Amino acid sequence: MRKDDCLFCKIVAGEIPCTKVYEDDDVLAFDDVSPMMPVHTLIVPKNHYDNIADDIPTEEMGRLFGAVAKVAEIKGVTEGGFRTLVNTGDHACQSVHHIHVHVLGGAQMNDGSPAAE
Ligand code: AMP
Repeated sequence: MRKDDCLFCKIVAGEIPCTKVYEDDDVLAFDDVSPMMPVHTLIVPKNHYDNIADDIPTEEMGRLFGAVAKVAEIKGVTEGGFRTLVNTGDHACQSVHHIHVHVLGGAQMNDGSPAAE
């Protein structure tokens, strides 16, 4: 299930290169091109869904979030800790409209206050 004008669908299809971290039948994880932390990896389902509110089947959601611990282990942030983040829509500044989980770590973060000052 692909959306033709979607950047992450093109990455999943191998039409745009990425730095692959993990892949299985259902998900692809790759490093963010503009990392906000020493570790900044994105996990995407291979099927296209715009965002977390896009009627994603429970099994698909489970496979997406099931990859988080694997990616954290591969990137070496399990022990130190890491943050997972999913932006949805304009208020959250979602810029790529193919659901993705950010995995951020590798250095101390703040308490995660969501609002800009
Ligand atoms: P969001 O703002 O939550 O939609 O996150 C989209 C993320 O995709 C941003 O952190 C971008 O830096 C990242 N991004 C955009 N284009 C690419 C790309 N070609 N490869 C890897 N990451 C990308």
